[in-house]
Amino acid sequence: MQAFFEGKYVDLADARVNVMTHALNYGTGVFEGIRGYWNDTEEQVLLFRAREHFERLHRSARILRIGCEYSVDEMVEICVNVVRDGGFREDVYVRPLAYKSALQIGLSMVALTPDGPRLVEDEFALFAVPFGNYLDIEKPIRCTIASWRRVNDNMIPARGKVTGLYVNSSIAKTEAVEAGFDEAIMLTHDGHVSEGTGENLFIVRGGTLVTPALSEDILEGITRSTIIQIARDELGVETVERSLDRTELYIADELFLVGTGAQISPVREIDGRIIGDGGIGPLTGKLQDLYFDIVRGRSPTYRHWCLSVHEQSVAQRA
Ligand code: PMP
Repeated sequence: MQAFFEGKYVDLADARVNVMTHALNYGTGVFEGIRGYWNDTEEQVLLFRAREHFERLHRSARILRIGCEYSVDEMVEICVNVVRDGGFREDVYVRPLAYKSALQIGLSMVALTPDGPRLVEDEFALFAVPFGNYLDIEKPIRCTIASWRRVNDNMIPARGKVTGLYVNSSIAKTEAVEAGFDEAIMLTHDGHVSEGTGENLFIVRGGTLVTPALSEDILEGITRSTIIQIARDELGVETVERSLDRTELYIADELFLVGTGAQISPVREIDGRIIGDGGIGPLTGKLQDLYFDIVRGRSPTYRHWCLSVHEQSVAQRA
């Protein structure tokens, strides 16, 4: 079973929604993306910062007014069950979704009843699939500034991982890929750097890390906060969170994108301007080494971020 759907563990092929589903028609869902890393020695998948992802799912749901039938702990348990029972022996990607499941025409998320307005029904679903790299992590990628602006917090809040919001990312990503780039970087409505279509962004300037502040219509990325923490604690490098001009990207010493899918993806070029010498910058390289040790469960200091899908060791399971 690789999915949890309508309260049951099912095969992915059986996790199907009705075409009238509110979320399918109007984008009224919130979601997450969690990586599970295969660990050869332990012969199991380690889920990276799963709890933090479900905490964010609950926050996104609160913004959108989606009810969560399951607590964070219960969602973590469902996630572990799906990945363990899916029998994966490779890296996986887990997609939890909380969505308006009402079968109705009409935008409102409240139904008017004789007892007053009532929020329409929601569902929670989760599935896992095998997953490799989303962006290149070894060969620096080529980016462009999207012609599409990032949605503003008062339009669709980027802080909430809302399904409908991803039209904004999808349209920008498609434009970039069609033009021969790997990824698009989006600017806020007033022209500051926001983020990639599915990643947060960091630059290195004069030995310091700079990343757009939380007020720049970004998703509050879990990888972003991981990077800020390990750069400070392991490398003694502080991160400045502020608004960032587009031209600061062009003159950066190093530039990289971070996210659950992207991991740490170095950028070699933005719209024809080569970043640094076009290779993986020294700080980017050090952060990559640290990050991959941590997510694969090889760093005792950060092992608490990795959740084992099997409680027993390989020997006990044999
Ligand atoms: N920004 C956007 C728009 C994203 O979709 C993602 C991926 N979830 C990120 C940033 C990175 O967030 P995280 O590190 O929590 O995966």
